[in-house]
Amino acid sequence: MTGSRTPTTAEELRGAGLRVTAARVALLEAVRAGDHLGVEALAGGVRDRVGHVSLQAVYEGLHALAAAGLVRRIEPAGSPARFEGRVGDNHHHVVCRSCGLVVDVDCEAGEAPCLTASDDHGFAIDEAEVIYWGLCPDCSTPRSARAL
Ligand SMILES: [Zn+2]
Ligand SMILES: [Zn+2]
Repeated sequence: MTGSRTPTTAEELRGAGLRVTAARVALLEAVRAGDHLGVEALAGGVRDRVGHVSLQAVYEGLHALAAAGLVRRIEPAGSPARFEGRVGDNHHHVVCRSCGLVVDVDCEAGEAPCLTASDDHGFAIDEAEVIYWGLCPDCSTPRSARAL
């Protein structure tokens, strides 16, 4: 940004062509403040900020924010959708098989698609979806070895 002030959340929504409501502003802020949160947790964050909002409204708001490119939706296999405010950089995720913790991993190549298909079968491939799976430090430490 060239010396201009940071736009407010409401201005970002308007700039993306979205209707600005207190609930949407709160939702975008909750996504950004959170760390790959699911819909229920985000609904809680919105309610803390603006009072009662239905789960349905949160779903619809997330759909609109994702379609506008303001939030990114990830869906690790076997896990409900989660949302994050870090968009547009093709970063990946490492997911803990045991507790479900999700952590960002920068893309090695920096842009999509960061893996080259051995055979593209004539497709114009524009993305490789990469999710690393494993055990987080807490879950990979044997219980007996943890200081309690
Ligand atoms: Zn874990
Ligand atoms: Zn992420």
